[in-house]
Formats: sequence, structure tokens, C-alpha cells
Amino acid sequence: MRPLGSIAVMPSTPDPVKGAPDWLPPDSAAFDAVEGAFLETARLGGYERVRTPVFEHTEVFARAVGESTDVVQKEMYTFADKGGRSLTLRPEATAGIVRAALSAGVPRSGSLPVKYAYAGDCFRYERPQAGRQRSFSQVDIEALGSDDPVLDAEVVLLGWEALRRAGLPAQALTLRLNTLGDPEDRPAYHQVLNAYLDTVDDLPPDVQARQRTNPLRAFDSKAPRMSEVMADAPLLADHVSESAKAHHARVVELLEAEGLPLTHDPRLVRGLDYYTRTTFEYQAAGLGAQNAVGGGGRYDGLAQVLGWGERFPGIGWALGVDRTVLALTGSGTLPPPRPRVAVFVVVAAPELAGEALSLVSALRGAGVATDLGFDGRSVKAQFKVADRAGAARVVILGPDEVARGVLTVKDLATGEQREIARTDATRELVGP
Ligand code: AMP
Repeated sequence: MRPLGSIAVMPSTPDPVKGAPDWLPPDSAAFDAVEGAFLETARLGGYERVRTPVFEHTEVFARAVGESTDVVQKEMYTFADKGGRSLTLRPEATAGIVRAALSAGVPRSGSLPVKYAYAGDCFRYERPQAGRQRSFSQVDIEALGSDDPVLDAEVVLLGWEALRRAGLPAQALTLRLNTLGDPEDRPAYHQVLNAYLDTVDDLPPDVQARQRTNPLRAFDSKAPRMSEVMADAPLLADHVSESAKAHHARVVELLEAEGLPLTHDPRLVRGLDYYTRTTFEYQAAGLGAQNAVGGGGRYDGLAQVLGWGERFPGIGWALGVDRTVLALTGSGTLPPPRPRVAVFVVVAAPELAGEALSLVSALRGAGVATDLGFDGRSVKAQFKVADRAGAARVVILGPDEVARGVLTVKDLATGEQREIARTDATRELVGP
């Protein structure tokens, strides 16, 4: 390697890590718009932003997400830190958020449910393809400490509204809904499901491997014959308690009253073990196999799995930012990116750069997004940059203008040009 000063230089620029996309302009603006729409919907619902570390002790995810899930078995980025602790980059956000709430003793706090919103990156070692990456971003909401079915309806509704606010048309969205009952309903159902699976010859290896620990995962299997096999399987919804059934009926009633188009899907189990009762998924048209833009459900047993001595129920969703951008791009409903700046200062003589910097700084101080020409470029070249930046107006700063204490302002849309006093610049250039 050739050194640059005392630093060794790479022979070529490294490739991005597989499955870890970069977001650069203009695409990053679409990403921000989607993430912003999700977070704004959460804010309107009274959900407050939380931040938790990007890594947790491995057992948090192993226990919460479930040892028998694909996420834990194959997809976690797990490493030992220098203190010998096993840590894992978050493959999803809920487990860490619930862990944080328990660490802070939130279940003992007065006003439940607490409502949290989160935005950040998650990491799963998956096989990358369109809409499936190893590094991806989610917005979550989590409502902790209530059993009320009205809260389930609110959460499901907010997810729908968040996707709509991001720009997905209602006709492009499907909402699948199911109930997974309570943890106590599972053992009896597992027996029934296992008895059925025992009648099937040549179960695929992934189903066989997990049949005794968690036969529910058979519903997730992507093995070719399995959707056919599972079409005849006994359904969990038929084996849940009366109280879980009544809870589900109330959620359905509330969502139908809100006019949400529900698709009842008794085979929807989702890939994480912690779900109980209400379980749902939002799908968007045109995304092919990776069509889930978000999903969620109740996780009434999660706090106990994470060592909290008492029941502390919760419900939430996660919406995928990357995949929603993809869905919007596919349906041609991506909003146009907003211009990079409103005003561009063309520096007509290099010795006026300092003067130009003072001017842009004053404009920025007044809330006007402003940029200026660099590198002593020609006036013509700077106009091109201004145009590409989407500036509505160009301010020309030349020796003549400076001598007379004025600025020339050109409206790029109309071509109209006028002079203003330098002292009036911020007042004249604020606003459209
Ligand atoms: P999950 O945590 O698996 O319920 O996923 C929630 C949402 O996150 C999904 O509906 C996707 O929109 C998004 N998502 C999950 N895994 C990935 C991935 N590997 N790449 C991109 N988006 C993902």
C-alpha cells in the first residue's frame, strides 16, 4: 500500500457491505419523508420518542424473539465485546424498548399505558434481495401497560394512518389480522398441531427441527409444499380462550367501525415468538415476495420472559422505512424532493467570498436555506449549480453591487431581475 503522509492508502475504495444500503440524495429525502410521516403519526397519537442502544445483551433477543425463530437461529449479528460479554445488534426494536422500560421500573409508574415511538436501524443476516436487507430501518410504536382492546384498535389504526400519511394509497394496502391467543392457550394447541404435522410425510427439515419446540413456526416455512400442507392444519384461532376470543371480536368491531378493510388471516403467525392475541401485518401491492411493509401485535408475556415478576402487557408495530420507500417508488407516488436551497448567492469575484459568506450566514439566520458558489467558478457555472440546487432566487454579488451597497436578485422561474438594498436582504429574501 502506498502511504499518504503517514497513513496507508487502500488500493481501491471498498465495496459497501452486502445488504447494507447507503441512502444519498435525492433518495435520502424520500427516506426522511417516510420516516417523518411515520413519526408524525406516532406523535399525533401521543407516542413519545425513545432511544435505546443499538446493541443489547444477546439473551434479550434470544429469549424475547424466541430461540426457535429464524431471526435468532440464523440472522443475529452477535459478537463478544472486549469485556467478554455476548452482545447482539438489534434485529428488531421491541425487545430492547421493553427491556428499557423494565430497567426504569415503568410498570410501577402511575400513568399507564406509556406510549413510546422509536426510529432507527435494525440488523439481520438475511439473504439480500429487493426489499430485504441486512441493515434496514424501522419506525415502531409501543404501548405498554394496558389490556384494553381499544388500544389494540388504536395501534392498528395508527399503523394504517402512518402508511397513508407516507403516501401509500389505500387501494395499494392490505391489512391482515389474526389472534394468537394467550401463552396459556399454546400447549394444548401445540399438541393438536403436532398431531396433524405427524400425519404429514417428509416434513421439510426446518419444520421437523422446530416441530417439538415450536410447531407454530411451520406456518412461516417457505419450503415449497408447506403452504399446501398448512392450508389443512388446525388453526390456533379455534383453540384460544373465550376471553381472547372476546378481545379479538371487540378489536375487529372497532376497526370495522373505523372502516378499515380487514383481511382475516388465521394463518398469520409472524416470525417472532413473543406475539399474543392481536397480530397484524400491512402489505403493499407491487413489492413481490417481500410485500410486508409493517406489522405488529400484542406481546402480553414479553415482560415476564424478560424477567419481570409480574404480567405487564404491551402492543406495538414496526413499519419498514426502506420497504415503504420501495413501495412508493413502485407505485409512482413518491413526493418530489424539496429543493436543496431557496436562495443561491453567486460570487461574481473571488475577493468577495468573505462578503458572500456574511450574506448567506445572515440569510440562514433568518431561516432561509441558502448556499453560495465555491472554488472561484465562473458566474455561468454558479448559475448552473443554483439551478440544480432548486433555488428559486439567485443573488448576484459583484464589485459594482458591493460598491453601491445593493444586491441583484434574479427570480429563476420568471427570469425577472431587480436590485435591492444590501441592508434589506434578509427582509426581502425571507418567504417565497
Ligand atoms: P418484523 O420486525 O419482521 O415484523 O418486520 C417489520 C417490518 O420491518 C417489515 O414489515 C419490513 O417492512 C421491515 N423489515 C423487516 N426485515 C427487513 C429486512 N431484512 N429488510 C428490509 N426491511 C425489513
